[in-house]
Amino acid sequence: MPKDSRDSRYDILFEPLRIGPKLAKNRFYQVPHCNGGGYRDPSAVVEMRRTKAEGGWGVIFTEQTEIHPTSEITPFIEQHLWDDRDIPALARMAEAMKSHGALAGIQLAYSGINGPNLYSREVPLAVSGGPILTFTSDPVQARTMDREDIRDLRRWFRNAFRRSQTADFDLICLYGAHGFGILQHFLSRNTNHRTDEYGGSLENRARFLREIVEEAREETKGELAISLRLSLHEGGELGFSNAELRDFIEMHGDLPDIWDLAQGTWEACSGTSRFKPEGAQEDLVKGIKQLTSKPVVGVGRFTSADAMVRQIKAGILDFIGAARPSIADPFLPKKIEEGRFDDIRECIGCNICVSGDMTQGISRCTQNTAFMEEWRKGWHPERMHPKGKSESVLIVGAGPAGLEAAHILGKRGYQVTLAEATTQLGGRVARERTLPGLSAWGRVADYRTGQIAPMPNVQTYLDSPLTPDDILSFGIEHIAIATGCQWRRDAVARLHLHPIPTDPAMPIFTPDDLMSGAGPTGGTVLLYDDDHFYMGSVMAELLVSRGCTVHFVTPAVKVAEWTDNTLEQATIQRRLADLGVIIHLSHAPDTIHATEAGLTCTWSGRSTTIPCDAVLMVTSRTPNDSLFHATRAQDWQAAGIASLKLIGDAAAPGPIAWATYAGRRYAEELDAPDRGDALSFRREIAALMDAPNLTP
Ligand code: ADP
Ligand code: SF4
Repeated sequence: MPKDSRDSRYDILFEPLRIGPKLAKNRFYQVPHCNGGGYRDPSAVVEMRRTKAEGGWGVIFTEQTEIHPTSEITPFIEQHLWDDRDIPALARMAEAMKSHGALAGIQLAYSGINGPNLYSREVPLAVSGGPILTFTSDPVQARTMDREDIRDLRRWFRNAFRRSQTADFDLICLYGAHGFGILQHFLSRNTNHRTDEYGGSLENRARFLREIVEEAREETKGELAISLRLSLHEGGELGFSNAELRDFIEMHGDLPDIWDLAQGTWEACSGTSRFKPEGAQEDLVKGIKQLTSKPVVGVGRFTSADAMVRQIKAGILDFIGAARPSIADPFLPKKIEEGRFDDIRECIGCNICVSGDMTQGISRCTQNTAFMEEWRKGWHPERMHPKGKSESVLIVGAGPAGLEAAHILGKRGYQVTLAEATTQLGGRVARERTLPGLSAWGRVADYRTGQIAPMPNVQTYLDSPLTPDDILSFGIEHIAIATGCQWRRDAVARLHLHPIPTDPAMPIFTPDDLMSGAGPTGGTVLLYDDDHFYMGSVMAELLVSRGCTVHFVTPAVKVAEWTDNTLEQATIQRRLADLGVIIHLSHAPDTIHATEAGLTCTWSGRSTTIPCDAVLMVTSRTPNDSLFHATRAQDWQAAGIASLKLIGDAAAPGPIAWATYAGRRYAEELDAPDRGDALSFRREIAALMDAPNLTP
């Protein structure tokens, strides 16, 4: 659709705007975001960023780029700009970012009190020394920088400015938000206890920022735009508060070319949809634009074009900052421009992307199955491989795996039959979206059902529980069984590898029971969580809303411990405490009696009992794979079937993102040449240097 046919309501999002010496083509600003690939997977990151350029973003940033080995946040895998040898990979990134007219930005970070330096083994340097403040409680302290160290740091920043310009970036972002960047450590009285000219008054605490912004301009001859990414509100009595930020911007409104404002901690900034709505930072940002002549960018998990327009028209933001919405849909700007609103793949706010960084795996996205597979597998968020030689595919089960497979195969041009046993599409997300805080999960189904609905080559059949005989009788070439899984009832998961003794008089429930409306509506419930992700705490909330007294029992040392990786753990534990849930950490049931459960402490082995009226098991899941095995037991080849595959939760239960990925993989690999034992993805291996003589 040509630009002049764009709905004029959204014109403002496409107005160019100057950022210092550079001109951004529109208001879509991909703020820096990690991806778990960083320096380890340079080409994977490059191609991921290229899709953002293609999708129409006006400004695209790298993730955190560490400027010096005295500051690295191992084990997390970000970018390095430690010496000139890091330039080529970043230059390739800048080239990709600029490939469709976007401005390319690099985020420069010195982590100070956040950098344990586990890899470089350098002594960490901080504004004020003390234990390293990161997620991993490393037994390491940082040394307080003296004046010489500060001079060194200014020089290291200069080196990074020069290298960024050599790599051909347009913008430099100086990182001082989320508690990570040293600029925030200087500004905040939490982390700045200095008594010299860099500590004390706000003016003094801002000295380092003023110095390096000046030096950035000098070093780059004013040719690069400078962004300051600062914390909106740090929290705590002495944290860099929103009021102080406003004072600072009032005093130094013209310091950078753009103000990039993000919450004080990453957890607060990147809240999940369970706890934070779209645009949650509005109150903290409102009015700041009026304190400066420079543009302001802020984030808020914006996926709605109307919300974006409102932010700009109301004078709150100039640029719409986005990390997760740009991951879930790299083509968000283009789709808004072309009025293709139904095609927008909205972020569901699950933070699975974040977990890729936190676990040092590689990020994946529940919604955008191509994320970080653009180079590794040659997948693209919008385009699929062309159709192969086969014609027809039957997909059994319309959960996230089946829907994604049908969607991708439909776009590839196959004749797709999607059969679903129930009367609704969506599988687990159709059920989970009804749970407290999880309504956004439904977007996984909404996007895909919206995509396949108009496809003439995809036929969907509801209320169609298929049997092996049905499958054999259709004459369809390829069969994918995506029949999902069920929560177990017998306590088997990680701690108990076999069922525990259970008196049949005690009512035992699972999340599936509660999602179908059954389960306790009062009384005392013992909830046993050996799953450690979101479901246990969501079930606790649901039971409380049904009037139950809930004992939350887990062998872990904290509630929902895996949600550390989605930045939710502290919020979840606080929520349960606020709801009056009685929490028993490091405990597990050993026997379920008729009116009580016997518990054992996982450390001491001591036993206790908790009287209860019902038990809810949130433990592990059993794949629904009987249809697959029963079909495979028949002579399916004789029925003309070329392949029979089991995918998604029916193969191996996991998070929703694992199921959408499985659907994509099945669909992309149909008719692909057999690669035998070859790796299914590309990877980069460090080039070996000539072996030097190591003898001292
Ligand atoms: P996944 O996450 O792997 O996609 P889900 O549990 O979300 O798995 O979805 C599986 C879907 O398969 C459910 O909607 C379920 O109703 C459907 N299903 C299960 N067995 C059959 C069957 N025999 N025929 C058709 N659909 C089935
Ligand atoms: Fe959004 Fe979840 Fe994708 Fe992250 S993984 S971008 S939170 S949908």
